[in-house]
Order: sequence, then structure tokens, then C-alpha cells
Amino acid sequence: MDARLEAIRNTVLARNPGEAEFHQAVTEVFESLGPVHDRHPELLEAAILERLCEPERQIIFRVPWTDDSGRVQINRGFRVEFNSALGPYKGGLRFHPSVYLGIVKFLGFEQIFKNALTGMPIGGGKGGSDFDPRGRSDAEVMRFCQSFMTELYRHIGEYTDVPAGDIGVGSREIGYLFGQYKRITNRYESGVLTGKGMSWGGSLVRPEATGYGTVIFTQEMLKTRGSSFDGQRVVVSGSGNVAINAIAKAQTLGASVVACSDSSGYIVDEAGIDVALLREVKEVERGRLKDYAVRRPGVSYVEAGSVWDVDATVALPCATQNELDGDAAARLVRNGLVAVGEGANMPSTRDAVSVFQDSGVLFGPGKAANAGGVATSALEMQQNASRDSWSFEHTEQRLTEIMVGIHHRCASTADEYGDPGNYVLGANIGGFVKVADAMLAQGLI
Ligand code: GLU
Repeated sequence: MDARLEAIRNTVLARNPGEAEFHQAVTEVFESLGPVHDRHPELLEAAILERLCEPERQIIFRVPWTDDSGRVQINRGFRVEFNSALGPYKGGLRFHPSVYLGIVKFLGFEQIFKNALTGMPIGGGKGGSDFDPRGRSDAEVMRFCQSFMTELYRHIGEYTDVPAGDIGVGSREIGYLFGQYKRITNRYESGVLTGKGMSWGGSLVRPEATGYGTVIFTQEMLKTRGSSFDGQRVVVSGSGNVAINAIAKAQTLGASVVACSDSSGYIVDEAGIDVALLREVKEVERGRLKDYAVRRPGVSYVEAGSVWDVDATVALPCATQNELDGDAAARLVRNGLVAVGEGANMPSTRDAVSVFQDSGVLFGPGKAANAGGVATSALEMQQNASRDSWSFEHTEQRLTEIMVGIHHRCASTADEYGDPGNYVLGANIGGFVKVADAMLAQGLI
């Protein structure tokens, strides 16, 4: 890393102790930015990096609620409003027991660059709670969401901060959150949340967008080598919204998707995953992958273990941060991997990224490859602002154009900075330059 940037990075790490994932995300971005600062010393002069690493506002709050047995439960809520140079803070809410400030800040930091790459007018933010929705009744989830919003409502708004979903937050949770926001403010403010239901202001394609977008971005990478998804053997990690839609899209492009996982294990289905059955098990029944294996002949279910033990030519990590390490990367490369598209945020460790890049594997980092979700959230905001709703075909067409545009921006930035094919560099510099220009123009704020 460039020595000037390393000094700034070390200060950021020392000022934010114990936030390992935030440190990792900052380090990864700083490693790309040396060449920009050689060309634009005015950015160092204006302390753009120090400002970028300090969120504009961080909110931490108590979330009290009662469970079905009448016991009082206390969780911690977060919203980190990281950067509003390009638009209102925008980013999801994650409900998962692992959530703490370091996770929210890594996600919020990534979101700044991701959102900039989409070309849409959205700043970066993220939030969530250490609440675990697993095993909770609908009534418990509703009471939790209502309590969460009872604090959050005063900090958000269509022109201020627009939350959406992430792990553990889907259309059910967005519904409860929206209902409580409306009740407290007495405003039907559609643009305050995205990922809404289709009958009350949501956008078609938003549920599919992150998974579809990841596959579209990966397809664009494959095209640069004269290849495509057709005939690829694909392994996907996760089996949530992003994973399921990535599987569906890869299949429509002619790939054979043979494995996916949940937190208990993974399935191998050599005949190709049956997306309808997977949706039934995971989305309708909120069940486990084990149930998929029981119902479909010829499927093996492996408890524990790593889905990355399954050979693939294309890997789509769509579960969570740091799920794919250097050893798994090396094994995949030995067994014929040609491309990786990150559907999750920071799923590959820094070691894994080095292995992929050193071995010439096409590697699409999450902040570029999974930007289709938040981009379609911005399309939802557009529809809300004009009180309109677009067709599936039109919205999907817009998503495709945006993903092709992000790929182009990353690839051409990597070319411009003398490292063709380095999508990490292209995404980090491409996103950074856009935000830095806007910050400079807006003065010292
Ligand atoms: N949580 C998603 C992400 O990681 C989507 C955020 C949004 O739609 O605002 O980008």
C-alpha cells in the first residue's frame, strides 16, 4: 500500500478498535487508491480519505420488545449514515445475531462505493440489529420491527435516509417497518423504504435484482474472454433471496447450477437445482436445505463442510462476509475455476481475492457485482417519486443496462490505471472518484 495512504489507514484502524470487518473493507479500498492520489494530490490535501472513513452520523439505540411468552427482550439497533455526497443515505438493514458496529460500518463503507458505481443519486448507509429472526413467530418479528422503527423513524425520510433489506430483512419485515413509520408520522411516504410489496409501492424485479445483477455482471466478465454462462458448472453459496435468484438467472443463461448451501450444510444436485422446489422450501416454508434433499431423489446433503469443496467453473458466493477463504479459493482454482461473482458483501477473504487474482480468475467484487439490488431500489424510488409503476420487462431492461454500465466503468477504469481485468481496482477507483469529486464540489462538510 502507498505509504501516505497507509499512514491514514493506520489512524483509521486505531480510531476504530475492534471493528475487524470495517478494517478489512477500508484496507481493501486503500490498497487500490495509490494511483489516484498520484494523479490527484488535491484529494490528499482536502483530507477526502479521512472524511470518507468517518461516518457523517452513527445512531445506536435500544430496541425493547416482548416475546410470545411475555418476556421482555432487549436488542441493539444501528443506523450508520456514512456519506451523502451523491444523494440520501441508502442501504439495507441486517437482522442477524452477528451484527455489531464493525459489521454495520463495513457494510456502510462498501455501500458508498457500490452506490456510486450504479450511477444513481444515492449516498451510502447501513443499519440493522443483533436480533435473530430465526425461530421467531410473525407476531414477534412484527413487535420487534415496530419497536425498531419507533426509534429509527426520526432519523430517516425520502430525502434523508432510505433503508431497505439485507440478511434477515425481507418484504415481511419491510412491511412491518413501513406500517409503523406511517402510523407514527401520519405520512404515506413511499420513498422512505425500498423493497416494499408490489401492491403498496414496491418495484417489480427488486426481489430478483441482486441475484440477477450478479449473474449479469459475471456474464459481462465472461464475455471479455469470449465465453458465457452457457455450459458452465456453477456453485452458489447461500440459499436466501440473492442465492435463489442468482441460480435462476444462471440457469436461464444455460448454466448447470449443481450446489448451494445454508448455515447447516450444503446440497449437491447434479441434475441441476430445482428452483421451484428450492423456493417452496426456503421462501414459503422458511425451512432448511435438508428438506430439499429429502424431497428430491439423487440429491446429496452434506452436513457442515464447505460448499466450496464442490468443483465449479463459476463460483457465486451469495451467503455472507468472509465465507470463502484462501484455502477454498486455491482448491477451486486447482479444479478449473474461471470466474467468481460476489453476490454477498465481502464474501471472499483478502487471501482468497489474492489467490483469484494471481491465478488469472475473473473476479467481480461485491461492490460492483451485487450492486443490482440497490440500483433497483433506486428505480423503486424513481417510480415512487413519479407515482408510477413500471412493467417487469422495462425494469429488468433498466437493471441490465445498469449492470452492463457498472461492468464497463470498472473495466475501463482498470484499463485507464494500467491494470486491465482488475475489477477490484476498477470498482474501488471508479466509485471513489465519483464520490470524491462530489465531496470536493460541496466544500468542507
Ligand atoms: N442490502 C443490499 C445491499 O447490500 C441492498 C440495499 C438497498 O437496496 O438499499 O446492497
